[in-house]
Amino acid sequence: MSGCIFCKIANKVIPTDIVYEDQHLVVFKDLKPAAPIHLLLIPKKHYSSLLDLGEEDFELAGRLNVAALRVARNLGFAENGFRLVCNCGWDGGQVVNHLHYHLLAGRELQWPPG
Ligand code: 5GP
Ligand code: ZN
Repeated sequence: MSGCIFCKIANKVIPTDIVYEDQHLVVFKDLKPAAPIHLLLIPKKHYSSLLDLGEEDFELAGRLNVAALRVARNLGFAENGFRLVCNCGWDGGQVVNHLHYHLLAGRELQWPPG
């Protein structure tokens, strides 16, 4: 989608620190990390939020989870633990309107979030 910052990242229009990529998704470092490790997982296809996913996207939703695990293992923080979170909509704190999951690790994270 033109004008979408994450579409630009997925299409390499904006150079970003990409740590994993496959046919369906991209994983890159968050611009303003909230933890020692703070990555964003996005589908290459534009979805405004989690609300845009339908039954036909069942496989993509699984791929995002499996990719998070793969990255956590490859970067060596899977065993210590991590948080995979999707902010959805206004109350969920979503700012960028391209579906993304935050993958946070590298310190003991607090719960509940603010
Ligand atoms: P949200 O609040 O929408 O769930 O989170 C959006 C995240 O995207 C924030 O953590 C923010 O730091 C990150 N972000 C926003 N713009 C950019 C960008 O241009 N590049 C990167 N790498 N991260 C971004
Ligand atoms: Zn987009």
